[in-house]
Amino acid sequence: MTTWDYLIVGHGLAGATLSVELRRRGYRVLVLDRPQPDSASNVAAGLMNPVAGKRFALAWRAADLLPAALAYYRELEQHFGATFLWELPILKLFSSVEEQNTLLARSADHPWQNFVEEISGTLPEKPGVNTGLGGARIRGGGYVAVRELLAALTREGLAEGWLRSETFDPQQLVVHAAEVRYGEAVRARHVVFCEGAAATQNAYFSWLPLTPNQGEVLDVQCDGLSEAQVLNKGAYVVPLGEGCFRVGATYRWPPFAAGLTEEARTELSQRLAAMTSLPFRVTGQRAGVRPAVRDRKPLIGWHPETPEVSIFNGFGSKGVMLAPRLAVLFADALEGRGELWPEVNILRYYPLYQAARSAGGPSL
Ligand SMILES: Cc1cc2nc3c(=O)[nH]c(=O)nc-3n(C[C@H](O)[C@H](O)[C@H](O)COP(=O)(O)OP(=O)(O)OC[C@H]3O[C@@H](n4cnc5c(N)ncnc54)[C@H](O)[C@@H]3O)c2cc1C
Repeated sequence: MTTWDYLIVGHGLAGATLSVELRRRGYRVLVLDRPQPDSASNVAAGLMNPVAGKRFALAWRAADLLPAALAYYRELEQHFGATFLWELPILKLFSSVEEQNTLLARSADHPWQNFVEEISGTLPEKPGVNTGLGGARIRGGGYVAVRELLAALTREGLAEGWLRSETFDPQQLVVHAAEVRYGEAVRARHVVFCEGAAATQNAYFSWLPLTPNQGEVLDVQCDGLSEAQVLNKGAYVVPLGEGCFRVGATYRWPPFAAGLTEEARTELSQRLAAMTSLPFRVTGQRAGVRPAVRDRKPLIGWHPETPEVSIFNGFGSKGVMLAPRLAVLFADALEGRGELWPEVNILRYYPLYQAARSAGGPSL
């Protein structure tokens, strides 16, 4: 029997960032991951944007989360001798005169700290871009090639023996005081579940308000369109090089579509057509499910009655920016060297657990 410090279930962005951080601290970590080409992380557009959403608001804790994420991805680039991160400006194009007026008026109050470096009704011309009503140039964000990064980590994990490509079987988990056993051969001090949207089926954490959300992205070829920035107007257009762009994303609540939809292809194509008059060709389409949460904050922490079992999940549509900093925060807390931020700690949902227990579940 091999003894590990941590058994981690899932190797999307959540499991990967946490296992990197724990291994960095010298812990023996075993990761079990079911290969899933359409996991949220494998499908993600990879964007980090400090000022986003319909309200064009500064993202939660952006000034703390973004530098940590940039440093984390740069360090992995050095480790692998490869490029995964592109720090690019994001050009938010105004959709209407009303939006233009609102944001120009708000800009005088500097609500976006120094993440918005230019906001104007007239923008310099960019090859192929309909700059029409002007927009805002956002700095500090960028794009991460998540799929390629996870593939590099997976190859390393398989070669070094800290990752196994297999589906975790809950029937084989036995939790004792201060120890977990998995099957005949694995013993660990602690198990952390990082299963993304699949956590809705996890007997320990099914009481948490995880509300999965389906999304689709397109890959397109659009020769001549400027690659100097990410474009944003109802959708994001991320330059991947050589005239190839990723356009995303759609949002769909249950019931989910089975596979790729014509509806998403049409919606994203129309949004791209609003940003450029150049012809483009769709070369790929992908769909995945985001692990979203009712209050839009991650779900991190210990099971209320079984402290050997914890969860690192709920990254919604922002895993790329959130996961690295929160992996450090959680690793500190697991070591007993710091507190989880209350906004992410699942302690905030313990009343739901108590209610589920009173109603006769959840049963372990
Ligand atoms: C269309 C789309 C576009 C997106 N774009 C962006 C973006 O631009 N920027 C951004 O920040 N975020 C984006 N996201 C969100 C981002 O993908 C998520 O926040 C993040 O990837 C979640 O990572 P995760 O590790 O929690 O989940 P996942 O990536 O789903 O990983 C979970 C892993 O656990 C494994 N697993 C589950 N159950 C088991 C089991 N029983 N045994 C073994 N393994 C198991 C799965 O196979 C998978 O590998 C997007 C998501 C979608 C769907």
